Amino acid sequence: MKEGTIEKSGAAVDPEALEAIGRYARRPLKAEEVYTFSMVLCDNEVDRDHERFSIPALERLAQLFVGKTGIFDHDPKGANQTARIYGCRVERIEGRRTTVGEPYCTLRAEAYMVRSEKNADLILEIDAGIKKEVSVGCAVGRAVCSICGQDRSRDPCRHRPGQIYQGDGAERLCHTVLDEPADAYEWSFVAVPAQPAAGVTKGLAPEGEEPGDILKTWAAGGAGLSPLERQELARRLDRLEEEAARGRAWREKVYGEALRLGALAEPDLPRELLAKTLDPLGPEALEDWAAHFRRKAAGRLPLIQTAGEDAPRRAEENTPFKL
Ligand SMILES: [Zn+2]
Repeated sequence: MKEGTIEKSGAAVDPEALEAIGRYARRPLKAEEVYTFSMVLCDNEVDRDHERFSIPALERLAQLFVGKTGIFDHDPKGANQTARIYGCRVERIEGRRTTVGEPYCTLRAEAYMVRSEKNADLILEIDAGIKKEVSVGCAVGRAVCSICGQDRSRDPCRHRPGQIYQGDGAERLCHTVLDEPADAYEWSFVAVPAQPAAGVTKGLAPEGEEPGDILKTWAAGGAGLSPLERQELARRLDRLEEEAARGRAWREKVYGEALRLGALAEPDLPRELLAKTLDPLGPEALEDWAAHFRRKAAGRLPLIQTAGEDAPRRAEENTPFKL
């Protein structure tokens, strides 16, 4: 999912727009029956998930999003409210570059709703700037590592998005370049800002308190949030927890592996000492140690023939660690 913003709304509907809208309406609509607004669906900047679209990907998405309906997420009353994109294009913002040095481009969409009793509140909210964010979903054919160019959707590489790598005398931020979009799904309104470093999950907790508890309490109790915002916050917290659990599971796995291979490679080393050495390490360092022990163990025990998943002899194949 990517997020964008609604930027202009309620402008007078010109005949050209009305004609484009007419393609989706069951009967010809008059200008006063239609409410239009303009959105930035996404851009080519690296986002907080350390991903970005290529410019050709945005061009393709511009074609894919035309005709797609938007839903009003998390709003039970909004089940039947929809807006539809009737025009979409890539806009190059002159004089601005992305953090990786490309011309900054946004995917600009024009959408319409039929003015009706049912939509009146929503139109008010958009006009008032309350419903400002949109979130879009799409499927991409390629997810390329910015460091080594490998397509991660097929074969994960060793680089970790969000980490800085040294290369060619410069520091490079590892991220994923999303390319060759295959499909665009529905888009929806959300109520939480999604700019890099501006998300709700960052910078909230006062010092010395448990950030998790504060956020949970906030999500449950409100503290100035609307019911929609509370739902959105709760949804994001769930996602963060899920990601954290995956991270812990990964560390546990490589920790166990490093410990086991360490015992094989260094049979004389007391296991407690080995555990004490490995305990404070993060998953990447543990992976390095596991690889080292694997090589060492392969040298020590060349005759081991059990072809278990991590049998020491596999080290010779030099297979990269996979998640
Ligand atoms: Zn890579």
